Amino acid sequence: VPLVQIRDVTKVYPPSTRGGEPVRAIDGVDLDIEEGDVYGIIGYSGAGKSTLVRLINALEPATSGSIVVDGTDITTLPERDLRKLRLGIGMIFQQFNLFSSRTVRGNIAYPLQVAGRPKAEIRARVTELLDFVGLADKARNYPDQLSGGQKQRVGIARALATSPRILLADEATSALDPETTQEVLELLRTVNRDLGVTIVVITHEMDVVQSLATKVAVMEHGRVIESGDVFDVFSNP
Ligand code: ADP
Ligand code: ADP
Repeated sequence: VPLVQIRDVTKVYPPSTRGGEPVRAIDGVDLDIEEGDVYGIIGYSGAGKSTLVRLINALEPATSGSIVVDGTDITTLPERDLRKLRLGIGMIFQQFNLFSSRTVRGNIAYPLQVAGRPKAEIRARVTELLDFVGLADKARNYPDQLSGGQKQRVGIARALATSPRILLADEATSALDPETTQEVLELLRTVNRDLGVTIVVITHEMDVVQSLATKVAVMEHGRVIESGDVFDVFSNP
């Protein structure tokens, strides 16, 4: 059974103006993401990539179809259970989305505090994560004192705090220079290889998919127009 199984999923947004057309952001998508995959979702702006990721994370409901995550159909789950589900899914963002008023340590601790973990456990876990992302010496700094690459490493540590099985990366390297992008991609490889975390990377950058992902889905106008092993999809016969 795939870790994430998406079947005939559609997401329609209501028209933004009266008399406007509804937007079919996702239009009949099928996708299987296996445990351990690094799955790239590529496509131009407006293709539906972010919407698909928000559906996987149950940040908004699908209009129709089913999304099974780790054996549970999340499209029929009550909010209480969705909160538990989200603890098993980490997310990182293009603009990092760090809390500017919290230190590096405070940012990484946040999901554990929300989950109500005991203080001593949080302290130990955060220290472990700081070492893992190589930011032990920045624990007491604030986000605006960090470089872009360091901020994204904090984002990754925070996303991993609750030991999720899935990490969703939404244009996670798009705000970074090429060298820093390579650093962050290397860290994501380590997350996948050493921690066994399944990674879904959304990007419009072909080279990010080619250097990181093992599988890829190409999206256009809310549809998956091609999917499979990166090598097969990108080899021109
Ligand atoms: P991508 O991530 O590939 O750039 P999106 O998922 O952000 O694409 O958007 C897909 C389509 O859905 C676009 O036409 C976008 O304008 C529309 N869309 C996305 N979010 C909303 C929303 N909250 N309300 C209305 N339309 C939206
Ligand atoms: P905030 O200002 O949002 O509370 P902090 O960084 O001050 O963020 O603290 C966040 C969490 O990290 C708290 O649970 C706190 O107990 C813990 N913490 C902060 N600094 C340290 C530290 N030097 N060693 C261990 N735990 C710390």
